[in-house]
Amino acid sequence: MANYDVIIIGGGPGGYVCAIRCAQLGLKTACVEGRGALGGTCLNVGCMPSKALLHASHQLHEAEHNFAKMGLKGKSPSVDWKQMLAYKDEVVETNTKGIEFLFKKNKVDWIQGWATIPEAGKVKVGDDVHEAKNIIIATGSEPASLPGVEVDEKVVVTSTGALTLGKIPKKLVVIGAGVIGLELGSVYSRLGAEVTVIEFLDVITPGMDGEVQKVFQRTLKKQGINFIMGAAVQKTEATKTKAKVTYKLRKDDSEHVIDADTVLVATGRKPYTEGLGLDALGIEMTPRGQVQVGKDWQTNVKGIYAIGDVIEGPMLAHKAEDEGMAVAEQVAGKHGHVNYGVIPGVIYTAPEVANVGETEEALKGQGRNYKVGKFSFMGNGRAKANFAGEGFVKILADKDTDRILGAHIIGPAAGELIHELCVAMEFGASAEDLALTCHAHPTYSEAVREAALACGDGAIHS
Ligand code: FAD
Repeated sequence: MANYDVIIIGGGPGGYVCAIRCAQLGLKTACVEGRGALGGTCLNVGCMPSKALLHASHQLHEAEHNFAKMGLKGKSPSVDWKQMLAYKDEVVETNTKGIEFLFKKNKVDWIQGWATIPEAGKVKVGDDVHEAKNIIIATGSEPASLPGVEVDEKVVVTSTGALTLGKIPKKLVVIGAGVIGLELGSVYSRLGAEVTVIEFLDVITPGMDGEVQKVFQRTLKKQGINFIMGAAVQKTEATKTKAKVTYKLRKDDSEHVIDADTVLVATGRKPYTEGLGLDALGIEMTPRGQVQVGKDWQTNVKGIYAIGDVIEGPMLAHKAEDEGMAVAEQVAGKHGHVNYGVIPGVIYTAPEVANVGETEEALKGQGRNYKVGKFSFMGNGRAKANFAGEGFVKILADKDTDRILGAHIIGPAAGELIHELCVAMEFGASAEDLALTCHAHPTYSEAVREAALACGDGAIHS
């Protein structure tokens, strides 16, 4: 048992970043994590392993589709699935060990085990009760379930099981056309699986810019991914090696069955608060099961805060990290701030998809006077040279003030390019500010500048 200024429950991107910042601000800090490794969902079974598999499968795709065009001939690589998984595991281990190193460097105590909060100011782990002036709940999220669908993590899997499949399935059915389903669907499609995505809505990646949704779906179709849209999954029936998925088409209520070797249930995630004892503490929750917090991330119980996937907002690692840093400032008596209007979202398929700020649909809904500047990667020399001319940059700016309100990119390195727009928006820049900024040639970034130019007198290369 020990006394701390801050105990953070959960060692994911929200929790570990918060712990490091608290320690840097001079607070005696501990982080409780029940999983055998630090890094949370993101490093262990989320962002990092999925990006490793996306990277490996993308390299295979490049070798199969583009190498010969550049005069790189010879035997194309074959897939050693065990080795690919070993590479993925190594990526995870290097990253999680990195957090352990950072904890030691910053003198953050890692308390290993599952925490409960018996009362404000106390955190219980096993038989030990630790005292803390401030408690920060950063317990993250878990996959949401779907009625009629029983997950066994072997044949019917969540994203967690999909990262450790025994073999590459011949037929993969993905339930849900959100970010996670499409990223992992892309991985297995590139590795040779026949992938079918079943989506309840009529569009993929709900909430994204409509134009991007259309181009993205068309691109994925061209890559060989099948879509069944407007379909409500009724149930799955699995044996040890196969499954059947029954769904109803919403347009005519007709029932259909599709076979699969593996079914990936990717219908979203829900906040995880089990075992914390929040009920007994009287901590207010939202109707969606999130911990309710105020502007300073404090719950209705003084000294208990919450951040990351367990509270409202996009379930993204960087949103959790930003809240982690901000709440650390807050408990250290400083002023923490997160600009929720400038949180980028990225889909790490090829091409990548990235967005920040308002969509055109949202601006229309608000009755806002806006203009659109768009530029196709077909007009970008670097993209064409790299077989990456598909997609575009779209900038939305206020028609009267020219201030950038949102940006949507589908194309090469979209996940990197979006940050130029984030910085611009953070500084309240106009489209003209971007258009007047010299961009190196030849870079993908020139497409961003051209889209900004298109908000004014026009792009040069379109
Ligand atoms: P988590 O990362 O979920 O961490 C919470 C931690 O708390 C867990 O390790 C858990 O074991 C621990 N915990 C829970 N309860 C207790 C307790 N009582 N005691 C002790 N420990 C406890 N986001 C992105 O931004 N980019 C991506 O590319 C991306 N890819 C993803 C891919 C997949 C397949 C998945 C599933 C998610 C992905 N995400 C991505 C989402 C991202 O992983 C989450 O938004 C992020 O991990 C949330 O961070 P967090 O700190 O709130 O919670």
